[in-house]
Parts: sequence; C-alpha cells; structure tokens
Amino acid sequence: MGQQLGHFIAALEAGGTKFNCALMDTNFNVIVQSAFPTTHPEETLPAVRDFFRHAARAHHGQLIAMGIASFGPVDLFVESELYGFITNTPKPHWSNTDICGFFSRELNVPVAFETDVNGAAWGEKVAGAAKSLSDFIYVTVGTGIGAGIVVNNALVRGVRHPEVGHMLMPRDQVMDNFAGCCPFHVGCLEGLASGKAIEARWGVSGKFLPADHPAWMMEAQYLALMCVNLTHLLAPQKIILGGGVMEKAQLLPMIHDYFSAFINGYAADCVMQNTADYIVKTPLNGAAAIIGITDLALNLWRQPAH
Ligand code: ZN
Repeated sequence: MGQQLGHFIAALEAGGTKFNCALMDTNFNVIVQSAFPTTHPEETLPAVRDFFRHAARAHHGQLIAMGIASFGPVDLFVESELYGFITNTPKPHWSNTDICGFFSRELNVPVAFETDVNGAAWGEKVAGAAKSLSDFIYVTVGTGIGAGIVVNNALVRGVRHPEVGHMLMPRDQVMDNFAGCCPFHVGCLEGLASGKAIEARWGVSGKFLPADHPAWMMEAQYLALMCVNLTHLLAPQKIILGGGVMEKAQLLPMIHDYFSAFINGYAADCVMQNTADYIVKTPLNGAAAIIGITDLALNLWRQPAH
C-alpha cells in the first residue's frame, strides 16, 4: 500500500446548516468539493454518498477511507452502542442519527469520526497554526462556541468531548445586563459571546455592527476571560481562534490586551511576553476540519487491520 494515484479519501464536514464534502487525495489535495444543505438525514446522507461515489469514479479512483467531522453532540466511543451517532441534538430530525454507520455500510470503507471542532483542531496540527505543537486548543466562535483540545498529541475525550462553549463566565451585570441565550445555562460563554448571543443582545447580526461598536469590547472581554481560564486549566502552548465572529479584524488585538490585563502576569513567561504569538487566528480559512479529518481517516486506513 502507498501513495498511489487514484486513492481517495471522502472528507465530510457535517455542519448544522450544510454538509461540506471534499474528495481528497492522499497528499491532502482537494480533487473536487461540493456542499449539501442539512435538511433531513434521509435526504442529506444519500446525497453525500452519491456525491462521493460519483466523484471517485469520475476521477478514476477508489475511496479508501472516509473522515467525518460532525456537529454534535456525538458519541465518539467505539465500544458504545451509539458510537458514530449524532445523539440528542436540538436540530430537528437529526437526534439519534447513525451517521457513521450509514457511510460505513454504504461506502464500505473505514470511517474516522470526530466532532467538527476536533477535526478542525487536528487540521491545525497537520497544516495550520499548531504544526509541531503537542498541547494546544482550537476554539471556533461562530453561531455557537466549541473547542477541540489536544493534550500530549491526542484529542481530549473524557466521558464525552469537551464543551468549552458552556463554561460558566464571571460577569458584570451592570456592564452587561443581557440575560444570555443558552437554553441550558443562560449565561455561559456561548450564551453570552456566541454569534447568536451578539445578535440577541444588540438586535442585529454582528456582521452589521461597526468596528467601534461597544459590542466588540464586550466580546473581546468574554473571549479573553475564556483564554485566561483555558490557560490556567490546560497550560496549552497555543490557543487558536476561528469561526465567523473572529473574522472581525479588530477583535484579536483587543483580546490580547484584555487577556494580558486579566491574567495579571500569572502565566508562563513565553505566554506573557508574546501574547500575539500565543493567541492567534487560524491560518486555514475554514479548511481546518476537512484537512484534519482527512488525516485521521488516512491514519485509520494505514492501521494494519486495513
Ligand atoms: Zn450553555
């Protein structure tokens, strides 16, 4: 076995809005890609299957493995009865969907399965801001907030994947009297600082708020608090931020300033002396999950069983 032409990986980033599909070669080149709206499993999953089947055939090759980076919550434990399922999601129609089993049966290839943010975190290690790092955190700040955590070169899993977006936040109720919008905790990080929270607090999507709007100072403070908590908890070598909200160019320098103020010197010298190199934006422009899950699928294919 080796790097032959015509060996393809089906890389799927399964999001709550759309399923991004990329037919990849073993050198991480995108051969062809497409996207399908996340409607109903009985509609979306066969459309994705057909895309990969046709794409592999059209490019004169065969699928050797698949990688799925999925919205959650998902069951990641191979020994579990519900392994490879999207479990109790609030998204209509998708609770208890055996997404991994469907593709494993229909495409007859080994399937690597991860959360969307774990896939993206691994992508940072393969080709992004975490190359050569053993301990780092990738956080996406978009409609929701989620993180993939790598410790000692492995994605962290305990009883479930981490839920960084739901950490509880200290807050000044005079400065911010918005109640929060998480249905489970109201004022957790996601309830206060996700794209959804920004829109609920200010009555307009963050996309339309000008760079000098007070929303961004508040957003930077919450994200800086998150970085302080993650730093104290896990002592990562780097924190990488991505997602739609982070596309606002003014945010990152503000996060650096608040982070330095809040942590008040209580961190490793390398963190304090070069905050701009410690908290960074993803360089991968939204491709991290596809790259990461491709690598995990290749690793699975290379295992002796296959
Ligand atoms: Zn929450």
